[in-house]
Amino acid sequence: MAHSTAASAHTAGRALRLLDQPDLRHQPAPIPQARRATATAPSVPLNLSLFDDLTHTVSEVADHARRVNPAAGPLPDDLGRLYDWWIDNTSDADTDEQAFRDTVIERHRLEHAIRLGQTEEVCKNPCPGCGCWGLEWDGVGNRALCLNRRCRTPDGYASTWTLGRLAVQKVQRTEMWRRNAT
Ligand SMILES: [Zn+2]
Repeated sequence: MAHSTAASAHTAGRALRLLDQPDLRHQPAPIPQARRATATAPSVPLNLSLFDDLTHTVSEVADHARRVNPAAGPLPDDLGRLYDWWIDNTSDADTDEQAFRDTVIERHRLEHAIRLGQTEEVCKNPCPGCGCWGLEWDGVGNRALCLNRRCRTPDGYASTWTLGRLAVQKVQRTEMWRRNAT
């Protein structure tokens, strides 16, 4: 396992613990400006979207761990330890499964950071299209946007990337660096 996965697992776990705070979960989801002007419904007491996201996050981890290792023990009570639990229970899995796990951990780390408002985490990745360090988070499109004007889709639009794509790039780059260093 590459060192950066341990670091990502640590950061992702800490963020997950923060997101799991009851008072955060009970805050209404932020309503986009355009909707707020016309919204008449009272705010929902439970942030359902965050609650769903957390449930999905945990089952994505648990499902993979149990598929790769049916003997995996119960999930930790502390969600902050979820990724350590995943790594511990899949350390004997084959390389592809471990690479898959490392990529999901990196994607979760980015997703949690966005939920906590740390959108600058996206800017720490080079653009997968042009390699420039000029990504910006587009909250409306829910994707990273490349600010390089020459980096365009065939239709002439700015290039945009999902967090999943950025995570794949990060894990591949780490793997290449590790191989070249040994
Ligand atoms: Zn680009």
